Amino acid sequence: MDDDARQFDVIVLGAGAAGLMCAATAGQRGKKVVLLEHNGQPGRKILISGGGRCNFTNLHCKAENFLSENRHFAKSALAGFEPLHFVELVERYGIAWHEKTLGQLFCDGSARAILDMLLAECELGGVELVLNAHGIEVEGGGGDFRVRSSAGAFRAEALVVACGGLSIPSLGATGLGYELARQFGLAVVEPRPALVPLLLDGDEAAWTELAGVAAEVVVWIGEAKIGGRGSCRFREKMLVTHRGLSGPAILQASSYWQPGDALMLDLAPGRVVLAPLMRRGTDPIAVPRRDLAALKLALRETLPQRLAALLAEAGAPKGWSNGALEACERRLHGWELHPVGTEGFQKAEVTAGGVSTDGLQARTLEARAVPGLYFIGEVVDVTGQLGGFNFQWAWASAVAAGRAL
Ligand SMILES: Cc1cc2nc3c(=O)[nH]c(=O)nc-3n(C[C@H](O)[C@H](O)[C@H](O)COP(=O)(O)OP(=O)(O)OC[C@H]3O[C@@H](n4cnc5c(N)ncnc54)[C@H](O)[C@@H]3O)c2cc1C
Repeated sequence: MDDDARQFDVIVLGAGAAGLMCAATAGQRGKKVVLLEHNGQPGRKILISGGGRCNFTNLHCKAENFLSENRHFAKSALAGFEPLHFVELVERYGIAWHEKTLGQLFCDGSARAILDMLLAECELGGVELVLNAHGIEVEGGGGDFRVRSSAGAFRAEALVVACGGLSIPSLGATGLGYELARQFGLAVVEPRPALVPLLLDGDEAAWTELAGVAAEVVVWIGEAKIGGRGSCRFREKMLVTHRGLSGPAILQASSYWQPGDALMLDLAPGRVVLAPLMRRGTDPIAVPRRDLAALKLALRETLPQRLAALLAEAGAPKGWSNGALEACERRLHGWELHPVGTEGFQKAEVTAGGVSTDGLQARTLEARAVPGLYFIGEVVDVTGQLGGFNFQWAWASAVAAGRAL
């Protein structure tokens, strides 16, 4: 390692949501901080987040909104920096915002305002931001970390890894955070794409012919080969794509889905679709029409026409008795599909899995076995549901580490 390494109190790797927030927090507490980023600009994901308006937090943020091998781990950091703390910061900068739905807060204008705010906070803390820092390598440990990069060599008592996950490599995602975790002896829960469209094939490829069709559904993971994850249900829009299924409902469920699991859909939540076909009493005059055409008509009352046609063909009852129609109705509220995969890290909004929380202190995000080494944000095995939870974890974990540094 070069002798001319520049000395800092803290080196932060990755100028994304978590890295910027942590650098600002530590800098404003008087630490001399350098923030290293391999992209030519900081916070690229912030800029494209929330369709360009950044869903920067969620008012109803609880530990239940996160996936992790340790579902209690996030509680401490989340309690130390709550959604309203971030809202306070946003308001201090005069950034207009609105609640879109379900507690999701978005900027009225561009997501750039959030990035500019974080950069201004870094400036207040005297943080030195170094862009285009390629080929980062870390040596040392235990109170003396040395980092070499194309942008120079740096030395500090503390190292914060805020490199994010593997999602969207074109925006700069790499596995550096996981590599560093392994280098320092921390376990990594296998990273997997999450908040990602699911693929259909085989018999179920017929669904893709409905590309563009959307419907409100309730979706959950079936008790398939790998049990135990079937509990989370999401009532939101589903969108059929050329390759499978997407839309908020599917993205939410995808984080819980693993190969072999069935995807369960209630295609008409809260409605009894086939009521018009049911025979009531014994009056022969009152016998409703009961055939495929009548079934399609009933389905069309609730569902988009093309989806109604597919369901009528694929899910027609075995006969036209009340009992057969009831079975058909039950199937509409628990339709089983068998995704063959996901669209992968290229399309995944986040990465589930990551640095195992077993090796980290929940209050500070410091590695238990390596003093001065911290992992924050998406690189950690804490993954939020859709709706501003991932940024809230980035802010909260960053502040937890920033205060401890
Ligand atoms: C399209 C899209 C939309 C999203 N919208 C929302 C939303 O509205 N609300 C929400 O809560 N979440 C949203 N997310 C998720 C959210 O962006 C992430 O969870 C969050 O950015 C994670 O913050 P982070 O700082 O941990 O990682 P990132 O923000 O990914 O930052 C990591 C940083 O590390 C840098 N880095 C990586 N590897 C290296 C390396 N080898 N050397 C140097 N630097 C490196 C990266 O370039 C990046 O700047 C969205 C994600 C995507 C992809």
